[in-house]
Amino acid sequence: MIFDYTLAFVAGVAFWVLILNDLHHYLGHKLKGRLQFSSNHLKHHGAKDWFETIRAQLGAMLPIFAVIALIGVVATDIATGLLFAGGFAAGYLVFPRIWHMHMHMAAPKTAYGRWMRKHHFHHHFANPKSNYGLVTPLFDMLWGMYEQPARIAIPERHAMDWLVDPATGKVLPAYEQDYRIVSRDHGEALLDQVDEVAADLDAAYASVPPTA
Ligand SMILES: [Zn+2]
Ligand SMILES: [Zn+2]
Repeated sequence: MIFDYTLAFVAGVAFWVLILNDLHHYLGHKLKGRLQFSSNHLKHHGAKDWFETIRAQLGAMLPIFAVIALIGVVATDIATGLLFAGGFAAGYLVFPRIWHMHMHMAAPKTAYGRWMRKHHFHHHFANPKSNYGLVTPLFDMLWGMYEQPARIAIPERHAMDWLVDPATGKVLPAYEQDYRIVSRDHGEALLDQVDEVAADLDAAYASVPPTA
């Protein structure tokens, strides 16, 4: 019985990993802000280090959790169905909240962390219509959403703190192979900051990368 319940929970987490790409692609991007899930995700694309609050994340998850719990309970029994939905909820809350934030805020410590950051920052700064996975590129590959990241160009105002040497403003040598910073051409008329914020959000809603 314990084994069955553990399996139900693990299957729920696995289900989350399996449909993460679709949640991110359809609910996050394609809805263009029509649900809170989507508007929060697009704000995350539009502004450096912007993450929704835990309360907002819980609110966005509840309807999805309810549907999965209902299907699980009808298809199996109450305990198994709820544990399956619980595994899904754990995946939904823990991975985006902890791992996704960690990728943005902290420097990679392992080859895997470095590799997944490149996958994710390609999604942010090269093509937001590709590389939706946060823990593995496998499902991007299977669903035809994968792009092999080249050296990623990041607009100066979006560059992660861990990427840049604060003294010089340049990419730290350890990451030069993977990233470069692009600055605005100061010969052109500068947008004021309000326009810049609006332009970043427009780019996020159109699922295109922000421009320098
Ligand atoms: Zn992100
Ligand atoms: Zn996205």
